[in-house]
Amino acid sequence: MLRFQTSCYRSYFRYFVSHYSVTKVEKPLEKVYYTKLFINNEWHNAVSGKTFPTLDPSTGTIITEVAEADKVDVDLAVGAAKCAFKLGSPWRCMDASQRGQLLNCLADLIERDKVYLASLETLDNGKPFSMAYHMDVGETMKIYRYFAGFADKWHGKTIPMDGNYFCYTRHEPVGVCGQIIPWNFPLVMQSWKLAPALATGNTVVMKVAEQTPLSALYVASLIKEAGFPPGVVNILTGYGPTAGAAIARHMDIDKVAFTGSTKVGHLIQQAAGESNLKRVTLELGGKSPCIVLADADLGQAVKQCHEALFFNMGQCCSAGSRTYVEESIYNEFLEWTIEKAKTRRVGDPFELDTEHGPQIDKEQFDKILDYIKIGKKEGAKLMCGGERHGDKGFFIKPTVFADVQDNMRIAKEEIFGPVQTVLKFRKLEEVIARANHSKYGLAAGIFTKDLDKAMHLTQALQAGTVWVNTYNAMSCQTPFGGYKESGNGKELGEDGL
Ligand code: NAP
Ligand code: MG
Repeated sequence: MLRFQTSCYRSYFRYFVSHYSVTKVEKPLEKVYYTKLFINNEWHNAVSGKTFPTLDPSTGTIITEVAEADKVDVDLAVGAAKCAFKLGSPWRCMDASQRGQLLNCLADLIERDKVYLASLETLDNGKPFSMAYHMDVGETMKIYRYFAGFADKWHGKTIPMDGNYFCYTRHEPVGVCGQIIPWNFPLVMQSWKLAPALATGNTVVMKVAEQTPLSALYVASLIKEAGFPPGVVNILTGYGPTAGAAIARHMDIDKVAFTGSTKVGHLIQQAAGESNLKRVTLELGGKSPCIVLADADLGQAVKQCHEALFFNMGQCCSAGSRTYVEESIYNEFLEWTIEKAKTRRVGDPFELDTEHGPQIDKEQFDKILDYIKIGKKEGAKLMCGGERHGDKGFFIKPTVFADVQDNMRIAKEEIFGPVQTVLKFRKLEEVIARANHSKYGLAAGIFTKDLDKAMHLTQALQAGTVWVNTYNAMSCQTPFGGYKESGNGKELGEDGL
């Protein structure tokens, strides 16, 4: 704990000791410790010596420069991971229970440095501190602990095969896993990928998103402190088309796990096919429907549909971005929905009561404002928001469009921002067909008190997860993954192993 008697530690103290008088958590600006590549438990500059900046999205200013990995650095990291995976290496000889202990130790270190990590996440990503602290860091700890428990409980089977034979299966690690993660939940995405890979004895080369490298590098330092042998985890900062593509094509990488856009998901699968047929799991985009039936608890449905979309500033693969409302309650639902969006507290993510921070970067900010223009041009009714908030950083006001039609681009394409589209429907079978008419199939929400209708809808909707009278209820125990172009493979839960 002494390590963080810094501005961050003080803010922790103030936040919890005088909770109600605190208005601000201080930024850990002067306390960014790690900016280099983490290979073989050591910090390296990129071979090229190149660096790139990471920005604070709430101001648009540079926080620091980080090393820019390229193919040659990926080769070095893969070499270290391959060496750490060799038969007879400390990692391969380690008891499975000890792997679990290391993961538990990592979770304990994350817990020790929880305030610092949450501050770093807020600084680099822009998400509200209270969310980074409770949700992102809190979930991250749980995920490492959940998979730690699996390390020595991942059994094979004995099989009573015909004939006089003794037959058994043994679960083996895949080998060197390439992992490529996005910027929307940097710590959580890192844990989703690292925890199951390490619990089952693999080694890892991970490329983190260019926009949010800082918390992942800090976790790398904790991985070393926890006692993982050199080369087991290697963390690279760099760009997708260079470092990311080198991972996807690498002949010595046995599996690649990717989370990000569907467009890049196609490239990853293609690269695997063109190189060594490495296994591929993909967690991609979505355009998930929320379906509100006339018998639903209206207040609850409005609130849940609001959070389904605006959570994490709309930057969520599972965002409930098509809100289908039954005709007879449409007007009332819309009125409450607009009211809710107008009162969402947008502002400095370090303010403790902020609910809504900036978008991740200028590119996403411009893309979302473009979609808002497109929506207006296509004839959807802009009910609130629709413009930037403030004059610095990448803030966009919570936006609601009404009278949206299925063929509009804002109803078909992933906006990945705070834009809720509300659509009207009349019949159950009609809304099922419309909800399924999408290249995506990640998640869906249903709001009704009628159990028969709920059961019918959960089975009829083509989505990896269907929530009933709630949304985004996720936890480490429940598997998550998509249908169609939302990806393949599951993360979390036993299936995540
Ligand atoms: P993205 O380009 O798919 O980025 C995700 C990760 O893939 C990043 O680490 C990225 O590196 C890397 N990458 C990019 N091109 C690559 C390539 N050719 N080969 C290997 N890796 C590559 O997503 P984005 O540009 O950050 O965001 C764009 C859209 O993706 C969003 O609007 C949203 O629709 C979707 N998205 C989905 C999720 C999700 O949770 N499913 C998360 C984030 C974004 P860089 O750091 O260089 O980008
Ligand atoms: Mg940043």
